[in-house]
Parts: sequence; C-alpha cells; structure tokens
Amino acid sequence: MLHKNRLFTPGPTPLLPAAQTAMASFTAHHRTADFKALFQRVLADMKEFIGTKNDVLVLACSGTGVMEASVSNLTSPGDKVLVLTAGKFGERWTGLAKAFGCNVDVLSVPYGETFLLENIRARVTPDVRAVFVQATESSTGARHDVQGIAKIVRTQGNDTLLVVDAITGLGTTHLDVDGWGVDVIIGGSQKALMMPPGLAYCAVSERAWKRMDATTSPRFYFDLRKERKSAAKGETAYTPATSLFAALGAALEFVRGMGKGDLAKGREELVNNAELCAEMTRAGAKALGLKLYSSAPAAALTAISAPDGVDSGKIVKEFRESFDAVVANGQGEMKGKLFRIAHIGYYDYLDTIGILGALEHVLARVTDRSVEYGASVRAAQQVYARSHDVALAAR
Ligand SMILES: *Cc1c(COP(=O)(O)O)cnc(C)c1O
Repeated sequence: MLHKNRLFTPGPTPLLPAAQTAMASFTAHHRTADFKALFQRVLADMKEFIGTKNDVLVLACSGTGVMEASVSNLTSPGDKVLVLTAGKFGERWTGLAKAFGCNVDVLSVPYGETFLLENIRARVTPDVRAVFVQATESSTGARHDVQGIAKIVRTQGNDTLLVVDAITGLGTTHLDVDGWGVDVIIGGSQKALMMPPGLAYCAVSERAWKRMDATTSPRFYFDLRKERKSAAKGETAYTPATSLFAALGAALEFVRGMGKGDLAKGREELVNNAELCAEMTRAGAKALGLKLYSSAPAAALTAISAPDGVDSGKIVKEFRESFDAVVANGQGEMKGKLFRIAHIGYYDYLDTIGILGALEHVLARVTDRSVEYGASVRAAQQVYARSHDVALAAR
C-alpha cells in the first residue's frame, strides 16, 4: 500500500498546514511595522494560550534553552534548589542546576511513577530558593500533580519559586498558572503548537522578575530582563526567528478557531482533544494485553511497555517500515523497553484510530502471540462513542 509519513512522536509533532504556508511566505524584516504588529499580536495571544496574565517571552531556541534561562536568571551559585525528577527531562533539570552551581536537592521517583505529595512536603523548606519540575515527563508518559506541588511551594516556601517545564504539558493538561502560583512555565514550538522546532517560550511571574535583580549567575543571550524590556517596545533583543513567528501566529489562529473565536476556549478544546486521543489509545493498548509504562498516564503521550521478550526497537521499526508511522522508542535506559505514541497538538480521531489499527498488525508481526484484529480499535471506538454521547448530553 501507499505510505504516508506521519509523526506520532512527542516532539517534533505533526505540522499544521496553515503554519507551514504562513512561514513559507513570510519575508518581513524584524525591525518593521509589519513584524512589530505580528510580534505584539502573538505575545498577547500567547498569554491566552498559556492562560496567564504574566509577561510571556518567546525566544529562538529549543525548549532546553528556556529551561536553562530559568536556571541562570533565577538562581545564584550556591542557592539551594529542589529538583523533582521522574525521568530524562527531570534529570535535565538536575544537570542544568548543577551546571550553574546550585546546591541541588534531588527528589526522584522510579521511571514511570509520579511523586507522592507527602514526600515533596518533607523537602520544601523555607531555604529552598526554587523548585523545578515537569508537568508531564515525556520520557515515561507520566503526569505530575502541578496543582498539588504548587500548593506546597506556596504554603511552605519562603518566596520559593516554582518553575514548571510544561513543554509537553501545555496544550494537553488543564493548568491554572496564575491561580496555582506557578512562577515560570515553559513551552516549546514543536509540541502542542503544531509547528517546527525553533521557538521556546515562558510566562514569568512578578515574584520571579523580582528575583532576577538579585541573582548572580552568568547570562547574556538568555537575559530575560533584556528580552522583557525589548518586548515592551514591541521588539526582540536580538534577531527573532521571523518565519517561525509567522507560523506561531497561524497556529494560534487555528486554536482560536477551535474555540469558535475564543482562544482560551480553543486551548481547552486542544487539551480535551489530547485527553480523548490518550484515553482511546490507553483503552486500545490494554485491549491487546499491553501494559502502560506509567502509573499516572499523561494526555501528551502514551508510553506502552514492550511485551516480555520483545525489544521495543523492533516495534518502532515495524511501525516505520510497514506504515511509515514514526513512534518514539524509550530514551536512555528505557530504550528497548517501551514505545511512545503522542497525542500532543495536531492529532485527530482518524490519526488515533489509524495508529491503533497499525499497532495490531505491528504486534502480530513482532510477537508470536495471536492478535485479535479489531480488538484495539473496538476499545478505542467505545471510548470515543461514550465521549460523544457525553458531549451531546451536555449540549
Ligand atoms: C521536548 C521536551 C523538552 C525540550 O527539549 P528540546 O529538545 O530542548 O526542545 C523538555 N522537556 C520536556 C518534558 C519535553 O518533552
């Protein structure tokens, strides 16, 4: 059969056609009125997309760039910080905080798990200057309780900052950034925003802006105060990724369309979409006798354990060779043990049913177990039908 190349990876994710054409035709210089208008519109829309009144900055870098910026801007060497880690991206926080000389307290849980709030409660003391965590740990497919963590930080900390890597959390998870008191929340263009890699963004609270004046870690390109000053004038400090801003403008319009003209509502629709795709996928995987890798599965992606005795690399390869579908293997020590199917961004019903149909064939080919064709798809259909009935009843 004909093959269409499709990404089912939790970043980069499939591209929105309107974002692609917007960037292909964009030529404005960045110090022009045209670009300034686009830039200001995008920054205002990004506040709605994130769901915050805090200042939002959009930088030309991958997500890790803004993770680094949050460490370099908010800490000084020797500062005590707490890193909550449950996977490869949590470990990135540890590496970053150590690179900038922080005194790092690491609370880790095994891959696939999430934190017990009582264990976090025991570690958030008033001398902790900042807490770093993921909203969703993309390497394991786990979801963390950002609301619960924020509550602990706000009540037990003494001006302690909460920094959340929501690079796969935004657009897949309901997050009340301002209501919960998240100080810095971070996202990236190649995830829920349905566009290529190259932009990363953050929303920064007043508490965090204030901290930046007192911290002493080195920073230059990623000096957020400099970006904020420029943004207030409708500019970026350095050359922005102009064509990616055009793509971002188109992506935000698409989300606004999902909300029938209301961007905040569109964001909620995008989250509900990911939740439903994820629920369908979990049901489909279980119907084939597969186990989820995480005990607290996120909507951004579903991590599925490879069946006993099967290297997940074989599954990834079979998806690629038979269907030109790109699913992600495990990262680091998890390589060979699990595979990951994304729901973040531009995925719909047909994508989800299609990947589950393909999964049935892939399993039949890489294992010697008999697969009941349709079992996975049927389970997903039932989830979809139920959600459709619920939506109809609510109307
Ligand atoms: C994708 C991702 C990142 C950022 O990775 P980059 O390659 O730097 O864009 C960080 N954290 C999480 C949870 C991610 O999923």
